[in-house]
Amino acid sequence: MTVATAACATCGSAGAVREHDAADYITGETFGVYRCPACDVAFTAPRPASMDAYYPSRYRRYARPVAALLRALYALRVRRWAANRTPGRALEVGCGAGWMLHALSRRGWQVVGLERTGEQAQFAAQELGVPVMVGGIERLPELGSFDLIFLFHVLEHLDVPSAALRACAERLRPGGRLIVAVPNYASWQSRYGRGGWFHLDVPRHLYHFTPAALSRLLREAGLTPTAVRYASWEHDPYGWVQSIQNRLGLAHNALTRTLMGLTPAPRGRLLSLALAALLTPPACVLAVLSWMAGAGAIMEITAVREGTT
Ligand SMILES: [Zn+2]
Repeated sequence: MTVATAACATCGSAGAVREHDAADYITGETFGVYRCPACDVAFTAPRPASMDAYYPSRYRRYARPVAALLRALYALRVRRWAANRTPGRALEVGCGAGWMLHALSRRGWQVVGLERTGEQAQFAAQELGVPVMVGGIERLPELGSFDLIFLFHVLEHLDVPSAALRACAERLRPGGRLIVAVPNYASWQSRYGRGGWFHLDVPRHLYHFTPAALSRLLREAGLTPTAVRYASWEHDPYGWVQSIQNRLGLAHNALTRTLMGLTPAPRGRLLSLALAALLTPPACVLAVLSWMAGAGAIMEITAVREGTT
């Protein structure tokens, strides 16, 4: 691989170094993952002018048992967030089907979601009764102020994450919390998988954060990071299974393509399914060990806006 450099998409410094060639499993195109030595944020380049070609129509539509399992995991997470707190106002940026907001509202929170697509927003509103505004972060000021704002696997998709974090910080009441979950570029899984790491997910993920880099962006937004958690049963073991298969030389993300029913069917799809069954137990062990070591594949950072209510 030739050493290539680019200007940093976050801080503008010249000299970001190409660390990986990474393939998109939807289109087969290759992108570069660059890391900035000045601000430590990694980013995907080139950045597509339009993302339309990179999202299949079946993206994030789950089979019924998978959906039930995800909802149960989300409910547990929300229970932790709400524990020992007086219910207040909560906002989810990029709320998808609205499952987490729904779980919070059942605990007495006043909730609202923000979602880019009208289709998802309609689902959340009609099926779950969760109010959702259609649009991007430019609509935040219309929504008022909050005790809790969360972005779950959203920040890495945004054009300018630092601006999004500042916009969220401005909407927090004193003492309010911002919770951000993204893949961890410094994880064991990332270092093992390299350009074949499942959670690189180029070009949909425009940015790749380490805990230190994201903490710094949060501080620059005026917030104080207070906790980092790594436990993510829905993303971490699966990332190991798929990343190991990629490193073993199976067709890139063959398992994911098979499970999503993408066409054409990938080469070796039966092998990838059989290997997945074999790899799942060790993947769970690797995930838990990496969480204990502070190097899990997914990180959830909580940051607080200082001040008293
Ligand atoms: Zn930079």
